[in-house]
This record gives sequence, C-alpha cells and structure tokens, in this order.
Amino acid sequence: MIKVLRNISLLIFFMMLMAFQPLNLSKNYVKTIVIDPGHGGQDPGCVFGTTYEKDIVLDIALELGRIIKENLPDVKVVYTRDKDTFIGLLERAEIANKNNANAFISIHVNANANTSALGTETWVMGLHKTEANLKLAMKENSVIFLEENYIEKYDGFDPNSPEAFIIFSLYQDAFLDQSLILAEKIENEFVNKVQRKSRGVKQAGFLVLWKTSMPSVLIETGFISNDEERKFITSKTGQVYLASAIFRAFRDFKKELESN
Ligand SMILES: [Zn+2]
Repeated sequence: MIKVLRNISLLIFFMMLMAFQPLNLSKNYVKTIVIDPGHGGQDPGCVFGTTYEKDIVLDIALELGRIIKENLPDVKVVYTRDKDTFIGLLERAEIANKNNANAFISIHVNANANTSALGTETWVMGLHKTEANLKLAMKENSVIFLEENYIEKYDGFDPNSPEAFIIFSLYQDAFLDQSLILAEKIENEFVNKVQRKSRGVKQAGFLVLWKTSMPSVLIETGFISNDEERKFITSKTGQVYLASAIFRAFRDFKKELESN
C-alpha cells in the first residue's frame, strides 16, 4: 500500500513538473525584422528621368515597417536606412546580424532597356541559372565601386567577373530553405492580391544577401522603365499594396516558423 501511494505521489509530482515546464519561446521565435531599402545617397539605383529607385524603395520600406509595427507589435522593426543616405552592402548585412534579426528583406526596383518588361521577382542567395539573372546581380552588386576599400572589404571580389560570381554563389546558405519559403509567399501575395505579374523566385549571388545569418530575400518590386508599372510603384496606393503584400507574406512566414 505504501509502495502504491509512493508511486502515485511520484506520478503527481512528475505531472506537476510537466505542467510547469516553461514554454520555449526562444526557439524559432521571429522577434526582429530588418528592412533594407536598396541604394541611397550618391547611389540612386535605377533611374528614369527624375524618378529614382532609392526614393521608391525607401517609401515602400517605411510603409512596410509601419504596417508591421501596427499589426505585429511584438516584432522589432529595424531599417538599414530610413532616410536618403549611402550604406555599403556589407554594412547592411552587419546591421541585420548585430540586431540578431530573424528575417532580412531588401527592397529594390528593376529596369530594362526593353520598356515592355514588367513584373516582380524575389531573389535568394544562390547560383544563377541564366545569363540575365547573373547580369541583374552584377548590376546590383556594382554599387560596391562607390564604397571605399571595396577590394579589401569584399575579400578581393571582382563584381565584373562571372567566374568570381560562380565561386561566391556556391557559398552554402544555411537559411536557404527558409529564405525560399518567404520568397514564395511574397511572390504569391504579389500575384494573388496585388495583380502583379510574377517573374518568379530566383537565385543569384547578391552581395547584400551574402553575409546575413538569417532568412534573407531581395525583392524587385517592379520596373521603373515600364510606363504602367512606374506609375504603380511611384503611387501611394501602389506602394501601400506592395508593402501590405510583403507584410502578409512575412506574417504567414512568422506563423509557419513559430508553429514548427
Ligand atoms: Zn536596386
């Protein structure tokens, strides 16, 4: 009888212990997002007349941050820049790493000599599959020429060498799967809710995504060279739609990650 009682009390003790186990909130918890408006300062990015990529992406980024703060108050929003300033590509990644961000979203605008080209693309770090994909990454990376000591900072990386790109793009990204999930969600939102033409989720060697140690994507929100799309991405309505779509993708990504 004493043995039975002892076993029962032991059982109750263990049940209580289990009931009071603290919830492991740190695991996969998405607490901080870094939003990176591309270019800035002396680097205008893509240009069409007096319309600059750096201004459009700053507006979309600030709108995205505002929506996240309003709807997900537990998430800390950090911008790599919140005004018209020049920041190196490596510094952008460093800001994300220093803040222990759980997601990094870089926002850009595209351009093409063919003015009928239009649509959105979301990029993750990896090896390019086509010459056009390589060219876009080279264009976005060429901004390092404006940075001081870029040869030293980027380990002698030559942004004009396709060979250098291949070696650098083979760099193993521990967060590739999660980056792809986030990228897919963003493109789906653009197509289904904002009626954008998706050019897909793609991979190439973007320097800004290279050193980030969290799921990271680079979004091309549309073409400044296309009349209709330029009107959309420079309008307040268009920018709010795009930012809302990115927000919903991030919110669902956060939910998915935290439920795993
Ligand atoms: Zn850009």
